[in-house]
Amino acid sequence: MHLTMPRAPQPARALHQMPARRAIDHAAARQTLGHLHDAYQWAVYAHTLADRTNHPAERLDAAAMLAPLAALTGHADQAVTTYRHLVDLATAELGHSHERTLYARAGMAEAHHRVGRCEKAIRDLADVYTTATQRHGPEAPVSLKALTQLACLYRDCGWRDLAHRCISVATTTAARYLPRGDPHRTRIADIDATPASENHRAVCTQARPSWPALSGVSTARST
Ligand SMILES: [Zn+2]
Repeated sequence: MHLTMPRAPQPARALHQMPARRAIDHAAARQTLGHLHDAYQWAVYAHTLADRTNHPAERLDAAAMLAPLAALTGHADQAVTTYRHLVDLATAELGHSHERTLYARAGMAEAHHRVGRCEKAIRDLADVYTTATQRHGPEAPVSLKALTQLACLYRDCGWRDLAHRCISVATTTAARYLPRGDPHRTRIADIDATPASENHRAVCTQARPSWPALSGVSTARST
C-alpha cells in the first residue's frame, strides 16, 4: 500500500505563529514529495518567521530553504535577494570560506545568471571555485560542484570550449581522487552530455568573453 504524508495545513490557515523550525520542516517535507509550490509557500513563511527571531541557525536554514525554492518556482528576483541574504548570514555565522557559505555564493551566482547578469555570475562563481580549491582542495565536493556549475554557466552562454575545459579539469580531478561510482563522477559525466539551456538565450548578455576566464582552474591539481 502506498502511504502518503498527511497534508500539512497551509501557511495562510495557521492561526497561531509557529516556530520557524516547524515551518522549515514543513517546507522540506513538501519539497521531498515534489510539491515545489507548496514547499515554496512554506519556505516564504519560515523565512518571515525566522527573520523575527534571534536564532541565527533558524535564519540561516530558512534562507537556505527559500533561496533554491524561489529559483525553482520561477521567482528569479526573489532568488537573488534571498541568496544575498543567505550569503550575508552564512558569512557572519560561519566565515567566508566555510562550505555552506561557498555553496550559498555559488547559488547566488546561478541566480544572477538566471536573470542575465552573466559576466558577474561567472566572475563570482570563478572566485568561489578558487576559494574552495584553496581552502578545501580541488577534490572537495564544494570545489567540484563550483567547477561543474561554472561549466554550466559557460555552456549556457554559448562558450562550449570554456565549458569543456572546466569539465575536463573536473573529470581529471574526480578520476584521481574519487572512487568509481561516486555520485560526483556521475554528475560530471551527465553535465558533459547536457546541451545548453534554450531558456538562457532569452536573457543572456554575453556577446564575447570579457573576463579573466578560468584563473581558478589553473590552480587545480591536474595530471
Ligand atoms: Zn549568458
